[in-house]
Amino acid sequence: MNNREIPLIHIHGSHRQMGQQIGEACRDQIHHSIGNANQLLADAFERLQLTWEGAQTQSRKYIPFAEERFPDFIEEMQGVAEGANASFDDIAVVNAMEAVTMDALHLTKCTSMAVAPERSANGHVYLAHNEDWLPEDEPDLVILHATPDDGPPFLAMTYGALLPNIGFNAEGIAQACDSVYPIDSRIGTPRVIVSRATLAARSPDEAIRAALAPQRAAGYNHLIAHDSGELYNVEVSARRFAVLGSEDGAVTHTNNYLSPNMVEIESDPDELIATRVRYFRAKRLLGLTRLHTIESLQAIQRDHINFQDSICNHAIDSQQPFDREKTITALIMDLTERVMYATWGSPCQNEYHAYRL
Ligand SMILES: [Zn+2]
Repeated sequence: MNNREIPLIHIHGSHRQMGQQIGEACRDQIHHSIGNANQLLADAFERLQLTWEGAQTQSRKYIPFAEERFPDFIEEMQGVAEGANASFDDIAVVNAMEAVTMDALHLTKCTSMAVAPERSANGHVYLAHNEDWLPEDEPDLVILHATPDDGPPFLAMTYGALLPNIGFNAEGIAQACDSVYPIDSRIGTPRVIVSRATLAARSPDEAIRAALAPQRAAGYNHLIAHDSGELYNVEVSARRFAVLGSEDGAVTHTNNYLSPNMVEIESDPDELIATRVRYFRAKRLLGLTRLHTIESLQAIQRDHINFQDSICNHAIDSQQPFDREKTITALIMDLTERVMYATWGSPCQNEYHAYRL
C-alpha cells in the first residue's frame, strides 16, 4: 500500500480571495488540468468536431446563466484564473466541460453511498464516494479547507481548475455527485456550479433546492446527507428531478437514474450497464453489514467484482481515449465527527488519510 497524502489547502475570505488562494497554491495542478482537458478534446476531435477555441465559444454561452444566479462562484472562478495566472476562458471550459461536450464523452462514473446512525456501529453518519475520472487528473487532486466570509466553512475534494463540490460543511450537510445522462440538456448553469451551491447549504431543504436551481444546464445525482441521518438521492436533469429518501437507513447511487420519472429521459440506457452492476453490487454489500464502520465501507470501496468497471474502478486500458477512467480518490466522510478520510489513487493500493474541518 502506498502512503501518499493529497495536499490540504486552507483558504478564507471573499469568494474572489478564496479563488485567488486556490489559484496561487495550485498553479501547477490548474495548468496541468487545463492541458489535460485540451488533450481530451484533441483525442475526441473525430467524434465531437470540437476544438479548444470552439469549446471556449460554447462555454461563454453558459457562463451568463451562472453569473445571474451564482455570481459568487463566478467570482471564485475569476479568482482561480487570477491566482493561477490562467485565462478565465480556460477555467470556464474546464468547469463547463460536461456541458460543452454535450455529454457525448460519458465522463465520470462514480459510486456513492451513505448510512444513517442506525446503520453504523458508533451511531455516526457516513458518506462514502469513489471518484472515477481520467487518470491524468489524479496528480491534480487537492483537499480544500475553506472559511468563506459569508457561508459555512467546508472541507471538499477537487482537482485542478474545478470548483469544489464533493465534501461537507460545518452545518452538517455533505454532498457527493454522480454523473447521470439526461436527454434534456440545454444551455444554462453548468452542473459543477450548481453543485458548488449545494455545498454552501445550511439545511437539507436548502441543499435540495440548490441542486434544482432554475435554468440549470443538466444535472447530477446529488447524494446529500445531513448529520441528523437524513439521506437523499436527488436525481436531476435540466427540467426534471426526483428526490429519493433512504431505505433501511442507507442510500446508494451510481450513474444510472433510479426514479421511473427520470429513467424515461435517460440517454442511451443500453450503454449504461456497468453502472447498474456497480449499483446493485454496492447496494448488496451495504445490506450485508448491519452496523457499518469506516473499515466496512472501505472494503466496499475496494471491491473488484466486474473488474475493470468495478466499484474500485480500473478501466484505464480502453481503446477509446475518452472512455479511460479509474478511481482517482476514495472518500469517506464522518459527518458526526466532521472528518474526511481520503486516498490519493485507487483505494486498493493507497492508504486513507484523515482531514478535519
Ligand atoms: Zn482496485
